[in-house]
Amino acid sequence: MKKQRALFLDRDGIINIDHGYVSKIEDFSFSEKIFELLHLFKEEGYLLFVVTNQSGIGRNYYTQDDFETLTKWMIKTFSEKNIIIEKVTYCPHSPKDNCLCRKPATGMIDTILEEYDIDLSASWLIGDKQSDIDLAQNSHIKHSIAIGINNIKNSEYHFNSIDTCYNYLKAHKEIIQPKVN
Ligand SMILES: [Mg+2]
Ligand SMILES: [Zn+2]
Repeated sequence: MKKQRALFLDRDGIINIDHGYVSKIEDFSFSEKIFELLHLFKEEGYLLFVVTNQSGIGRNYYTQDDFETLTKWMIKTFSEKNIIIEKVTYCPHSPKDNCLCRKPATGMIDTILEEYDIDLSASWLIGDKQSDIDLAQNSHIKHSIAIGINNIKNSEYHFNSIDTCYNYLKAHKEIIQPKVN
């Protein structure tokens, strides 16, 4: 079977506005144009994954149950808009745990690759921190997009917001279309 292309998404600051340790449905606000952006990738056949550091669990700001309740609601909200999230992977540890899954370590991507046959050379990652872009590099995800006004190194593209990212990719769809050999 042909390998599939994937879009790996950070959560806080990408899917939703990062208010800091968001753990409740009422505090979760979707980023402007995130649904439209994911539709663009969906139309091109990408599988969608969420890859998120959730050290708020390890720091005891909220529980794994809180996270899972919010995640179920998020997935349901996406599916009501015809957006299927294949899998949400998360690191529940705090930085001092020195785990193998906290970004930019590659554990969460490794887990996804055990289950799915992904062509990393045709896959994308979107994140708002240096650790996201470093994860793309460490995992050999070829294409990366940094979002936000912070200085981030080594990303292939950088936009101020999901909104501007969407407008650019909508106007330049060939960027995310498969190369015809
Ligand atoms: Mg983030
Ligand atoms: Zn971890």
